[in-house]
Amino acid sequence: MNYTGVREAEVVVVGAGQAGLAAAFHLRWVGYEPDRDFVVLDHAPRPGGAWQFSAGPP
Ligand SMILES: Cc1cc2nc3c(=O)[nH]c(=O)nc-3n(C[C@H](O)[C@H](O)[C@H](O)COP(=O)(O)OP(=O)(O)OC[C@H]3O[C@@H](n4cnc5c(N)ncnc54)[C@H](O)[C@@H]3O)c2cc1C
Repeated sequence: MNYTGVREAEVVVVGAGQAGLAAAFHLRWVGYEPDRDFVVLDHAPRPGGAWQFSAGPP
């Protein structure tokens, strides 16, 4: 975070569903540090995307 209160990151992943979490995994895999080099943003209160609304196994 800089003096204006604005966070800076090299990569911003929008959405913490399957696609966003997979992107974050691979960024981490190639050496990007979470919260320093990249952030994952989601307007939902929790990660998981559509799957968090699944009814689960029958
Ligand atoms: C009930 C249900 C059951 C399913 N079951 C299966 C299954 O059995 N097998 C299968 O292969 N697929 C299944 N699917 C489909 C699978 O869930 C989707 O294909 C998958 O979730 C898509 O992942 P995604 O990351 O692209 O999108 P999403 O999972 O939709 O994630 C997108 C994320 O981005 C966030 N977002 C969107 N716009 C913004 C924005 N402007 N700013 C910030 N955040 C934002 C959302 O809040 C969300 O968290 C199912 C889907 C549902 C709804």
